[in-house]
Amino acid sequence: MTVCVCEKTSQHAASPALVEGRERIGRGVYFSMHYNKAKTRITNQFLKRRDLASGDLSVWRLGEPYGAQVEDVAAILEESGPGGSELSHIYYAGAENIRFVEAASVNADQSLCIKDDCTSGPDGECHPAHATIGLADVDGVDWDPDGTAFREVYESLALLFRKSVAWTKIGPDQPLPRLPK
Ligand SMILES: [Zn+2]
Repeated sequence: MTVCVCEKTSQHAASPALVEGRERIGRGVYFSMHYNKAKTRITNQFLKRRDLASGDLSVWRLGEPYGAQVEDVAAILEESGPGGSELSHIYYAGAENIRFVEAASVNADQSLCIKDDCTSGPDGECHPAHATIGLADVDGVDWDPDGTAFREVYESLALLFRKSVAWTKIGPDQPLPRLPK
């Protein structure tokens, strides 16, 4: 079930299809940018608040039926990552679970949208497996980035992603991933 209107039409000519609920959606984590100061633990900063608030949180469609192989996504993320940081993980979650992520104060069926926006970089880069997550346009919900509803959705989404690792790079300088509580 999809509620928000932005998911009813394709957002990009290169998109293979609208994002279906059964798809897996991946998000990259970089070392040490997204780690705590001791570099032992991944923080929620792997989800950019500002990008979620503006509807441009960059994610990837993984595997069948419309996504890319996780190794290929990892290669793209390694190449395009922030300077001085190295890709350490790709978390993933089911599209359906993302859309209907829990937020106690949100009195609506859907909190988040996953849009088939293939624009994958600031210089017009494009990939058919790229997508973006944004806040659903739901009547009566105030998505003020400093408000309770936004915080709840942000934290629920972070927790959801942290449950599942699609790809990880473990080397001599890399800490082992911590399992979520
Ligand atoms: Zn929407």
